[in-house]
Amino acid sequence: VTPRTRDGHALSLGVDIGGTKSHGLVLDDADRVLAERVLPTEPSEAGIRRTVLAVAGALADDLGTTPASFTSVGLGIPGVVDHTSGVVETAVNLGITRTDLAALLSRDFCADVRVENDVKATALGAGLALAETQRDLAYVNLGTGLAAAVVSNGRLVRGARNGAGEIGHLAIDPAGELCTCGQRGCLETVLGGNYLTRRLVSLGLDLAGLGGDPRPAAAAERARVIDALTTTLTLVVITYDPAVVVLGGGVLRTAGWLRPLVEEELRRRASVSGFLAGLAVDGRLVELPTATPVAAIGAAVVGRKKKLRARPAAVGAALEG
Ligand SMILES: [Zn+2]
Repeated sequence: VTPRTRDGHALSLGVDIGGTKSHGLVLDDADRVLAERVLPTEPSEAGIRRTVLAVAGALADDLGTTPASFTSVGLGIPGVVDHTSGVVETAVNLGITRTDLAALLSRDFCADVRVENDVKATALGAGLALAETQRDLAYVNLGTGLAAAVVSNGRLVRGARNGAGEIGHLAIDPAGELCTCGQRGCLETVLGGNYLTRRLVSLGLDLAGLGGDPRPAAAAERARVIDALTTTLTLVVITYDPAVVVLGGGVLRTAGWLRPLVEEELRRRASVSGFLAGLAVDGRLVELPTATPVAAIGAAVVGRKKKLRARPAAVGAALEG
């Protein structure tokens, strides 16, 4: 079946499937948002299918059409995603250990369904939202976990095994907390929301108030978090040298005090190192726009990707991942 188009134009559906909410929208071929919907996410494989279909149905209604007219379908979802097959693994918050999400939804749409990890999708969306599609951009997500995704010339930098950007599992402290990955003292055990919130609660502290808390335990935690995030951002810049480093995620939103103090620490480190001064990490930091549905826009961009196989190298590179 060939997807129908409205007035001959593309209708790119993107859905960012979050732990509690799913955010869907439709982009036209000029990247304008034609319709937008947010619905609660139902966990489990069947629940996610129902959620995506509900979002797609509502968006189609808004546009006076049906889901059959979407010319591409892209989904962003937390967890380990094989973008070539659409298989999602270990999306723990969604109650998924392994599911072939693309196959599950393939009969519900005329267009192919493409699936990408939500941090990678958000990096693609940030590129569009910030009009940074020509220069290299890194997105650092500080949410329940810690990971980065890099977009270069409009394409995701994946590496040979799709592992590029898993910076949360760089172990920096041999005496640190045990990480779910098996190592000790990973950056994620210091900065990831799952670990950080638990540690702060056990110390009688809270993330939002940590910035202005005068108690010694708070000062120690604050210093630890600032130090680890400063190191993380320096690592991203040394590794990828992106023009822009976009910061996002729940921990950063809650800890409004964090970014200014990290910038201060970046400048302090640069003041004693000509090398770091040359990197000018603090000058590259940009906050993820909160007024724009960046993750859902990124999901729509994911959907537009051409198939990986049988593609001439020079064709269609502009917006692919
Ligand atoms: Zn780890």
